[in-house]
Amino acid sequence: MCIICTGEYKTVENLTILNCAGCARVTEIPMICGLQTLDCSNCTSLIKISVIPGLKRLICSNCTILTELPVIPRLQELYCCNCKSLKELPIICGLIILHCSGCIKLVEIPMFSGLETLFCYDCTNLIKIPAICGLQNLVCSRCTSLTELPTISSLRELYVYRCPWLSQNNPKFAENLKKLRFLQKKLMRRYIGKKLEALSPQISEIYYSPGCKGYELAKRSFYSTSSQEN
Ligand SMILES: [Zn+2]
Repeated sequence: MCIICTGEYKTVENLTILNCAGCARVTEIPMICGLQTLDCSNCTSLIKISVIPGLKRLICSNCTILTELPVIPRLQELYCCNCKSLKELPIICGLIILHCSGCIKLVEIPMFSGLETLFCYDCTNLIKIPAICGLQNLVCSRCTSLTELPTISSLRELYVYRCPWLSQNNPKFAENLKKLRFLQKKLMRRYIGKKLEALSPQISEIYYSPGCKGYELAKRSFYSTSSQEN
C-alpha cells in the first residue's frame, strides 16, 4: 500500500516528489498537479501512468505489466528498465536521459532530439537505434537483434559488446571507431598529460563484440595509446 492506494496523496499540498515504489496494489498513477519526480518502480500491478504535465523525472523500472507510457511534454529523465511488456516508447522532445535496458519487447528507439544518454542494453528485440544528434553516451550491449549502429559524431562513450549481428564491414562502424579513437587521444593528451586524469570524461574503453576483429582492434588501440601517453 502507498499513498496513492490510500488516497492520502490528495491531502498533501504541493506534492513535488512521490515515491510509491514497490507497491504491488497500485494499478494506476493519477494526474497529480505540480509533481516533478515520480518513482513508481517495482509496481507489478501498474497498468497506467497518467499524463502529468510538469513531471521532469519518471522512474518506472520493473513495472512488468505496463504496456505503454504517456507522452509527458517536459520530461527530462526516463528510467523504464525491465518493463518487459512495454512495446514502444513515447516520443518526448526534450528528454535528456533514457534508461530502457531489459525492455525485451522494444523494437526501436524513437528519434529524441536532445537526448544525451541512452542506456538500452539487454533489449533483445531492438533492431534500430536512430542517429541522435548530440548523443554522448550510448550503452547498447547484448542487443542481440541489433544489425546497425548509427554514426553519431558527438559520442564520447560507447559500449556495444555481444551484439552478434553488428557488422564490422559497415562503413559506419569504421567511422565511429575512428572518431572515438581520435577523441580518446585528444582527451588523454589534454587530461592525462596534465595529470588531471580524474577530470577526464569516461571514455576509457571501446568494446565491440568480443572475438570480432573490431573488438581486438579497439582493445589494441586503447592499450597502445595508453602506454604511449604514459
Ligand atoms: Zn499502493
